[in-house]
Amino acid sequence: MSNIKVVKFGGSSLADANQFRKVAEIVLADPDRRFVVASAPGKRFSEDTKVTDMLYACYAKAAEGANFAEEFAAIEERYNGIISELGLDISLEKEFTKIKNAFEHRAGRDYAASRGEYLNSIVLAAFLKFEFIDPAGYIKFGENGVFDLEKTLSLLGPRLARCEYAVIPGFYGSMPNDTIRTFSRGGSDVTGSIVASAVNAKIYENWTDVSGFLICDPRIVENPEPIKTITYRELRELAYMGAGVLHEDAIFPVRKAGIPINIKNTNRPMDRGTMIVADSDETSEYVITGIAGKKGFSVINIEKDMMNSEQGFGRNVLRALEKNGMNFEHMPSGIDTMSVIVNTDAFKPVQQNVLDEINFRVHPDHMDVEDDLALIAVVGRSMRKARGTAGRIFSALAHAKINVKMIDQGSSELNIIIGVTNEDFEPAIRAIYDIFVATAQK
Ligand code: ASP
Repeated sequence: MSNIKVVKFGGSSLADANQFRKVAEIVLADPDRRFVVASAPGKRFSEDTKVTDMLYACYAKAAEGANFAEEFAAIEERYNGIISELGLDISLEKEFTKIKNAFEHRAGRDYAASRGEYLNSIVLAAFLKFEFIDPAGYIKFGENGVFDLEKTLSLLGPRLARCEYAVIPGFYGSMPNDTIRTFSRGGSDVTGSIVASAVNAKIYENWTDVSGFLICDPRIVENPEPIKTITYRELRELAYMGAGVLHEDAIFPVRKAGIPINIKNTNRPMDRGTMIVADSDETSEYVITGIAGKKGFSVINIEKDMMNSEQGFGRNVLRALEKNGMNFEHMPSGIDTMSVIVNTDAFKPVQQNVLDEINFRVHPDHMDVEDDLALIAVVGRSMRKARGTAGRIFSALAHAKINVKMIDQGSSELNIIIGVTNEDFEPAIRAIYDIFVATAQK
């Protein structure tokens, strides 16, 4: 393991000249921050448009054969504004001409979108006086369009070993035929993770506009506390339930290499942020690490006497779903009952077919469907050791007069999933936060 730190800055961290100055201060404060991955300029204020979205819109016009001069000029303006405010002695005119030309020749949507990070990284490299490295030659996708980690590491590792300080655009790489391909939206996080893995970094710092992950959604609980340390597995559980901030694919390359991620806030660099680690012996501050959830599920309740002794019962129920292109989220079961939880929007168009198929395959004694279910995941590596966690959750919910419709605890004891009505979703999260965090004795 080296001392190298790989630092990735998101769009809001590089939205204008003022943000560039904050970024430079952070990078230059520590000589170990050697490789910088940059996003395209993001929003400067809430109604602003990200450069990536401007590029998609501009290219859509070009691809229709329409005039896109106005849209392109607005993009040029974003970069020229940053360059002039920073007093940099560079010009992107030649690049702009090349890109316009490529748009006219239908270079592709991915190429178009990638120019946001490409241009921004040229500007940032000039400002930091770092080398600029184009990932097109090193970050590789296979013929099938799937990212190829092994090939990428074999190309990128030796290239970065020859370089002391560099800025690398996020979000894209190239196909075997050298055309540009992007990751999905937010993909600069993935690039940062790949670069960290390629140089065997000590840490991957992911700089954004929040001071790490919060224990729960701030739209539900006012000012929730940040999570100090979270394991990759806990994060996966919370992300699955809708807690955002980091691109899901960004975890794999660093996790494989055992490199921790630190989520940090460019606007409050002294905040500790959240550390994402492989395994933490450090007991968490609270019994729970985080709470997340989603609304919009339906439950198919199936009842049949002696269900447990009927071989293939579960398989037949799931076949009925599969035949209709449905997947399921959870499947809690009782002695003679089984409930299958599915996404309501996906289920409604095929509901009758699924029920007919289940009837045909397993002949239940009774079957009904309940809609308006919300699922809440209470996640925490310390739950395994703490006794009475489930009891505390349910008494908090009972106090708040919330009816629990379903409970599911995986054998990993890493999480407890609770089903409540959509209406009870927010009050339930508040009640759980209160009992474990707000009123907890530290
Ligand atoms: N600029 C790209 C996007 O807006 C990628 C990124 O910022 O991570 O999705």
